[in-house]
Amino acid sequence: MPIEDRFLDRLPAALRDRVRCGVPLRDLTTLRVGGPAAVVCPADNPEQARRFHEAALHAGWPLFALGGGSNVLADDAGYRGVVLHLTGCDCTVRGDTITVSAGLGLDDLVARSLGEGLAGLAFASGIPGTVGGALAGNAGCYGHEIGEFVREAVVLTRDGDVRRIGPRECGFRYRGTALRDEGAILLEAVLQVPAGDLAAAAAERALHLADRLAKHPVTEPSAGSWFRNLEPAVPGERRRAAGELLDQVGAKAMREGDAAVFAKHANIIVNLGRAGSGDVRRLAARMQAAVRERFGVDLAPEVRDLGPGAPLT
Ligand SMILES: Cc1cc2nc3c(=O)[nH]c(=O)nc-3n(C[C@H](O)[C@H](O)[C@H](O)COP(=O)(O)OP(=O)(O)OC[C@H]3O[C@@H](n4cnc5c(N)ncnc54)[C@H](O)[C@@H]3O)c2cc1C
Repeated sequence: MPIEDRFLDRLPAALRDRVRCGVPLRDLTTLRVGGPAAVVCPADNPEQARRFHEAALHAGWPLFALGGGSNVLADDAGYRGVVLHLTGCDCTVRGDTITVSAGLGLDDLVARSLGEGLAGLAFASGIPGTVGGALAGNAGCYGHEIGEFVREAVVLTRDGDVRRIGPRECGFRYRGTALRDEGAILLEAVLQVPAGDLAAAAAERALHLADRLAKHPVTEPSAGSWFRNLEPAVPGERRRAAGELLDQVGAKAMREGDAAVFAKHANIIVNLGRAGSGDVRRLAARMQAAVRERFGVDLAPEVRDLGPGAPLT
């Protein structure tokens, strides 16, 4: 039996109807690169996610959790496996506690929390993608990270169990979590957000949104910063921006096919039109090599490379 059928056979009819085959990943990622995924499964709630996951295990297929696709590079060959697209976007606010589904846009969460009188998330204004993607990678900027606010998370483990865990088990660190290392999928989160000074938070939000418009690509597709910032030389000090080093090696002039380094930010790769995954990987490798040669530093990618999934048999 073909693997697609083995996967679909395991699903109840209502879920089978949700599955989309052969969806180009360029349509689901902000860099606009990537060929067809074998199957894309939109999950609006934890039970749907669990059923899709179980069917993937049964078919022996790899599974990749996708949120807003703002931090991934998909392959031109597509993805031979299951793309679990977290699309649930419920959000309930009680006092300073927010319960939110993984698929809600992070910036929508920021706007909603400010509307409810909670100031603490203003720092995250304008970060693209979903709550799930942000938590999985502990997204952050302007001195804060989303993990600081997490009190509980509902996750789907690699073995297919749905569990409620605390922040310690999530293992938040700079742009990473134990959650992601273990292949767990975030389904829901409970955040505690301080009320703070609302007028100051609204002003902070406006400032960050304007800053992003000025410094980040707006019309050109991108996936945000390509490389992680450097570990501080002394613990507790600030990380050195990878973009600083890339600027000094002339990265802004680098281009491979339609993949180019953004003119205003040496750590961002943009798609000028028809860039393929090969162009992007070649460009990233050149950027990395130039920094290694000049500074003896190995830049580590922040963007997740989906790869082609299961090998063709
Ligand atoms: C213009 C621009 C600016 C950006 N600025 C910032 C910034 O200031 N700070 C910052 O931290 N990032 C920034 N980013 C990167 C990106 O927006 C964040 O990493 C974002 O949190 C990714 O969320 P997503 O939903 O798009 O994740 P995706 O791109 O869909 O996925 C990214 C990774 O998270 C995993 N993932 C997604 N959802 C889940 C889930 N529910 N459970 C488990 N794993 C999951 C995926 O498997 C993948 O490994 C920027 C990106 C762009 C394009």
